[in-house]
Amino acid sequence: MTATLIDGKAFAARLRSRIADEVTALKARGIAPGLAVVLVGEDPASAVYVRSKGKMTREVGMNSYEHRLPADTAQDDLLALIDQLNNDPAVNGILVQLPLPRHMDESAVINAIAPEKDVDGFHILNVGRLATGQKAMVPCTPLGCLMLLRDHLGDLSGKNAVVIGRSNIVGKPMAQLLLRDSATVTVAHSRTQDLPGLCRQADILVAAVGRPKMVAADWVKPGAVVIDVGINRTDEGLVGDVDFDAVQPVAGAITPVPGGVGPMTIACLLANTLTATARANGLPDPQGLTP
Ligand code: NAD
Repeated sequence: MTATLIDGKAFAARLRSRIADEVTALKARGIAPGLAVVLVGEDPASAVYVRSKGKMTREVGMNSYEHRLPADTAQDDLLALIDQLNNDPAVNGILVQLPLPRHMDESAVINAIAPEKDVDGFHILNVGRLATGQKAMVPCTPLGCLMLLRDHLGDLSGKNAVVIGRSNIVGKPMAQLLLRDSATVTVAHSRTQDLPGLCRQADILVAAVGRPKMVAADWVKPGAVVIDVGINRTDEGLVGDVDFDAVQPVAGAITPVPGGVGPMTIACLLANTLTATARANGLPDPQGLTP
């Protein structure tokens, strides 16, 4: 058996095209969605992410506002910019690119963003809303994983799901989303005992660790759906947390790296900006973009 390839790149392209259609419809009603991205410092990887976010934002017809601040910016100056964006009706979504320089308090900065404009879903209110089943802004990477899982499996109810990784950005919100879809969820991490044995029980296995090819073939239950969030730069290029070549003959379906979860993250950022725009204008949430 060879696993079905879950093509995140194609799915994300379809999603962006649908978002572009909805943006056109909003513009016809005089509503122009806008996303502001703030980059502090010159981290090269962050600069690449910010550039491609801006490009994709413009491609779906949204307004993109980029703010670049020097690495030695005072936290109060960043907070003043966030306050200005919070109060700007042309800005529906605000994203502060992480990581921030060391002299800044990341939580204080994220929690200064108006929760309804927090398209990354990292504000403490959105974290709480997601955990309690209320209408929230949901972090983009796990939202993208959920969309791929639903598309492939349909109903996730009663499935055994194992999420490897407990970060606030991926692992924890992923677990919350799977729980919300009535999966039975286990969160594994660096102190988990017998990780291979635990993973072998999973119908859905999500790897979000940052260790190249950690998930081996004998960690995977035959037929399981494997979602590889990992992005690791190695001598052989970009690889995931899953040993793709070894796992593909065992799994039922698998996301590749690159071309799996990665493209879904930016598409979901645009989806969240569309949702935030709809909510700001008293319109119903666009269908299928929120959990
Ligand atoms: P993180 O470093 O914040 O968290 C990693 C988690 O893995 C931790 O909870 C830790 O407990 C766990 N872990 C570490 N070693 C382990 C081990 N040996 N066994 C089991 N668990 C272990 O990372 P993150 O921000 O959650 O990102 C995880 C990976 O996903 C990284 O490769 C990152 O680049 C990638 N990522 C991809 C996207 C995307 O768009 N595709 C988005 C965010 C992160």
